[in-house]
Amino acid sequence: MKKVLLTILGVFCTFVFVGCGGNTIDNISKKLSTYTISITMNEDCHSFNAKQKINYINNEDEALTELYLHLYPKSFNIGAESSVVGVLNKNKAYYNGDSEGDINIDSVTASQDVKQMTYLNKDEDILRIELASPLATRDNIELNFEYSVVIPNCNHRFGYGENTINVANFYPIMAVYDNGEYALDSYHSNGDPFYSDVANYDITITVPEAYTIASTGVEKKHTIDNGSKTVNYNAKAVRDFAFVLSDKFEMISSNIDGVEVMYYYYDDLNAEASLQTSIDSLITFEELFGDYPYSTLSVVKANFVHGGMEYPNMVLISDDVDGADYTNVIIHEIAHQWWYGVVGNNECVNSWLDEGLTEFSTLLFYEKNSSYNVDPAEIISNITKSYATFVDLYTSILGEVDTTMNRNIADFDTEPEYVYITYVKGNLLFNTLRDYIGQDKFIKGLKKYYSDNAFDIATPEDLISAMESTSGMDLTEFFNSWIDGKIKIIDK
Ligand SMILES: [Zn+2]
Repeated sequence: MKKVLLTILGVFCTFVFVGCGGNTIDNISKKLSTYTISITMNEDCHSFNAKQKINYINNEDEALTELYLHLYPKSFNIGAESSVVGVLNKNKAYYNGDSEGDINIDSVTASQDVKQMTYLNKDEDILRIELASPLATRDNIELNFEYSVVIPNCNHRFGYGENTINVANFYPIMAVYDNGEYALDSYHSNGDPFYSDVANYDITITVPEAYTIASTGVEKKHTIDNGSKTVNYNAKAVRDFAFVLSDKFEMISSNIDGVEVMYYYYDDLNAEASLQTSIDSLITFEELFGDYPYSTLSVVKANFVHGGMEYPNMVLISDDVDGADYTNVIIHEIAHQWWYGVVGNNECVNSWLDEGLTEFSTLLFYEKNSSYNVDPAEIISNITKSYATFVDLYTSILGEVDTTMNRNIADFDTEPEYVYITYVKGNLLFNTLRDYIGQDKFIKGLKKYYSDNAFDIATPEDLISAMESTSGMDLTEFFNSWIDGKIKIIDK
């Protein structure tokens, strides 16, 4: 995600936080779980019914006796315990006042005997399925769901606004089994509170004919019948599936070495420039980090409370942002295709790993593309000053400031604190690392980090190991000093 904060503790702060191939995918996808979802939108596209099948393959190296699924729309219930938007942005997101979003599960069945199914937490946003017998490694189970979804009236990832209907994090998705336990973090207003394994998706969406669909994946089939449009999408080895509807969309596209780059927009007099920025981002990041392994990339203008948001093969760019900031958000969100999309990480615990690196990738973009007239040195100088101001302010008001980086997003007291530690300090960490080991070894390290962890989950240790391997240096102390909060960044 790209957060644009305007006020920090009442002080106006005007800066914006700037600062493989088809065969591989086919081979990887054979081992993955598959989600097959059929969605029928109601007339106003504010709610829908869905049937979903998950062919879940146990890719863990131990048998599983329980399975867990996230039901993120539950956090959009009015009065939900888990927050979907911070106090600073609530009125902006819910511009028409409170509005309820929900998922109502009508039925769940499984291809094996189930001991018990339980909804957890006050919000009932986690479904636990206890199996009668363990699911062995490489064994599969089929889960079938029928449910209805209510989309709230709000400018969020999941919500409808004046221009677009954003349908993301809308379906039951398997929780990740990580080091002997499931990651069951609820939705949170800080950051992108999502964490999932790559899987295959076969999604069919039926909408009134007037709507255009932008989505993850490749369109496979398109039929029109009696005022309705049904489109089938296929996506292999992606971390999630999301789509956006609008009856206002125009679309322009360009094919870049087999990748169809599409820009969906309304009210954009510079649409060609926005498409060109998307293309430049794709080309630059492929050169810097490695191939983009999918065949579509959709950049979608949308009503959205934050600057932008990343999903596999698709990014949202807020219509609330304009000019150079709009361009910057496009670059940032496309960088996420490498850091979050292909290389995943637990965004609830190591949010700096994708956000910090994505911010620094944006800076690398400007270094490679001088025609954008953004001075990378100035970005670093500005964010160094801003970070020092943040530390000074928090210290003077609260007496101390926690600058540790590996914190759960729910453990940041305020949204500004989350943004400064994750985006700004994260960006500074990567910049200092590059200065320390040198450009060549740094870029080789990123390439190695990308190829070693593609379609998998990376941890800070994986990043450190890639950088140590290409630099030949012991970087433990370097990273610890940043992550543990011991480093002092001085405003010069
Ligand atoms: Zn981001």
